[in-house]
Amino acid sequence: MKIDIPGNGPLTIETVILDLNGTLCVGGELVPGVVDRIRQLRQKCEIVLFSGDSRGDASRIANELGISFTKTVTGHDKANEADKLKAETCAAIANGLIDLQLIQRVKLGIVVLQGEGVHAKTFLAADIIMPNVNDALDLFIDEKRLIATLRE
Ligand SMILES: [Mg+2]
Repeated sequence: MKIDIPGNGPLTIETVILDLNGTLCVGGELVPGVVDRIRQLRQKCEIVLFSGDSRGDASRIANELGISFTKTVTGHDKANEADKLKAETCAAIANGLIDLQLIQRVKLGIVVLQGEGVHAKTFLAADIIMPNVNDALDLFIDEKRLIATLRE
């Protein structure tokens, strides 16, 4: 999707990278409302899941959401995998310290607080801080929300 941000030029986002635990899931359970939003957002861009798969459920959840899953066990892995997708055309939604390099690397880094919190270093590296993953996904589904936050 290409979004014109007044005062900030065009923003092209081809891929939205998602973290799993603390982002799509809280306490190992998918956040209610995520399934519908992912279905909507899949019409506009690629969506990928980067996770260390610490609970062993990442592949099943990615299948359920109809998105691809790449196993990434370190912060370096996440940033490297973003580079393979052209990080300058990626947004990421994440929450942990393991996501710090990813949030720094992508064009648009979004962190979510929710029930598991955001690491302070990752928080400070983000472009946008959102209360939960549904609100974060809605920034892309309803681009006017994203424009209102990013415009100068
Ligand atoms: Mg996480």
